[in-house]
Amino acid sequence: MAQLRFPRILQSGIGLHRRVAGAGCARSGAAGSRARAAIRGRGTTRPAGSAHALRRILAFVVALFLVGGAEAQVLASRIWPAPDYTRITLESKSEIKHSVFSLKDPERLVLDLESGELSAALAELQGKVTAGDPYIQGLRVAHNRPGVIRVVMDLKTEVVPQVFTLKPIGEYGHRLVLDLYPALAVDPLVALIEESQKKARTAQGTVARLATIVIDPGHGGEDPGAIGRHGSREKDVTLTVARRLKALIDAEPNMRALLTRDGDFYLPLHARVEKARRVRADLFVSIHADAFVRPHARGSSVFALSERRATSEAAQWLAKRENEADLIGGVNLDVKDRYLAQTLLDLSQTATIDHSLRLGSSVLRRLETVNTLHKPRVEQASFAVLKAPDVPSILVETAFISNPQEEKRLNDEVYQDKLARALLEGIRDYIAKHPPRPASPLALN
Ligand SMILES: [Zn+2]
Repeated sequence: MAQLRFPRILQSGIGLHRRVAGAGCARSGAAGSRARAAIRGRGTTRPAGSAHALRRILAFVVALFLVGGAEAQVLASRIWPAPDYTRITLESKSEIKHSVFSLKDPERLVLDLESGELSAALAELQGKVTAGDPYIQGLRVAHNRPGVIRVVMDLKTEVVPQVFTLKPIGEYGHRLVLDLYPALAVDPLVALIEESQKKARTAQGTVARLATIVIDPGHGGEDPGAIGRHGSREKDVTLTVARRLKALIDAEPNMRALLTRDGDFYLPLHARVEKARRVRADLFVSIHADAFVRPHARGSSVFALSERRATSEAAQWLAKRENEADLIGGVNLDVKDRYLAQTLLDLSQTATIDHSLRLGSSVLRRLETVNTLHKPRVEQASFAVLKAPDVPSILVETAFISNPQEEKRLNDEVYQDKLARALLEGIRDYIAKHPPRPASPLALN
């Protein structure tokens, strides 16, 4: 029966993307009517005989070219700068033929687009580079040769570009994605070690070993997550709560925290798992605030991985939806395959899942003090982000952003702090019962 209600939720999910693509759609209409006007214009000349026929064929070919160009025009452009990588997204009605190459002295990256005329959305890209962008100094867009628009990026440092396309999903059209990675990859260990050194300088007494908690703010960048009726985006709420939780954890004498993403950009699910494993995390906590089957659904829930069946249809549905984040957020599949081979090992996760359930229970008991619970115990399903085989991992649905009352509370600083404290206390309760393994030569401190 629950399946009958799914389409309503899907609608609310799809609605999230309407606003992102909406402005572009308006422009696409204008471009389309320009092309149609051009076709009509050519139809008004009426020369006689075979010359007439030839001209009509020529007009048809030109019209096809114009329509094709309009289809491949950029309708929306976005830049997502972040220390991990800067992403440029160009959205269009059909796939844009493109090529990328680098130039040295000074470092530049050139993107050629076979997209007909220069659209307003593409021209706007020039003003979207921020001073804080770690990789792009400035950007220019201009006609290069007939039918080709050239985007030149002046770089702050050498980058490794990755360019790929994404098929339409939700309200997004075709997307051409250009990711600028640093030539030397950012290692999450560096940030964590800096945090530990700060702690060592201010430490009172001795702590056997710091427990490393990786906090994962759900969604980000191209993937807004769920959107509340008043416009709050899940990706913003999760980052705010995660930052609060990190500050609280770092203030504890025996713990330190690392955020998988500390900014508004999309991080693929496998990369979140990979970061936790890279820093040998003791615990992994993914934070969310989703829409749900019924708009009046409310309360907090905690999820762990299930190796087999989901514990409820709702849990299964939610896992499917969360796992689809990669399609919306945008993942280069060539690279994903490489990660999958390393990360999603076919190991039995029974012991890890047992500890994930214990951690989940501790967190749920504390969440109960600040919010009603949606389900009284930890639920399980096949969440891709919880698949580190050796790190107890939970996904916390702090509240339903689809519920207007809960959306309001999620934006309230006092409530955000209460939530973060409840999460901290749940984690602290678990660590008191299950202290991290003693320091080994592999330990980080
Ligand atoms: Zn979510």
